[in-house]
Amino acid sequence: MSDCLFCDIAAGSIAATKVYETDAVVGFEDINPQAPVHVLFIPREHVASAAELSDAHGDVLVELFAAAAAHAREAGIADRGYRIVTNVGDDAGQTVHHLHLHLVGGRQMMWPPG
Ligand code: 5GP
Ligand code: ZN
Repeated sequence: MSDCLFCDIAAGSIAATKVYETDAVVGFEDINPQAPVHVLFIPREHVASAAELSDAHGDVLVELFAAAAAHAREAGIADRGYRIVTNVGDDAGQTVHHLHLHLVGGRQMMWPPG
């Protein structure tokens, strides 16, 4: 176990329903889904948030978005659309300080967000 929940999920020491797994990226169902489809995509490497990304993360960032888009297609929500969100810091509501993309869809999304 580490001191990071999502590092532990990536390592398999905390259980999650994984939908995507490669050497660099893991995708798993959010434990508290906010929409019919709500999956989190994380780099295996611990990166605290999008604010910590550097040029070295280019490949993994492309894989995170591509994996989310592929899952949206597999889940049947790609044609109607979906949202990919990453929260950074307290005002945005970031609660887990390991970079994650939320893929949410399967219902009409509102804008502006809450
Ligand atoms: P944040 O608020 O940091 O943007 O998003 C964290 C997300 O992680 C939340 O949507 C929350 O439901 C999810 N989450 C928190 N703990 C767990 C857990 O133990 N397992 C899974 N699968 N998701 C979690
Ligand atoms: Zn971590």
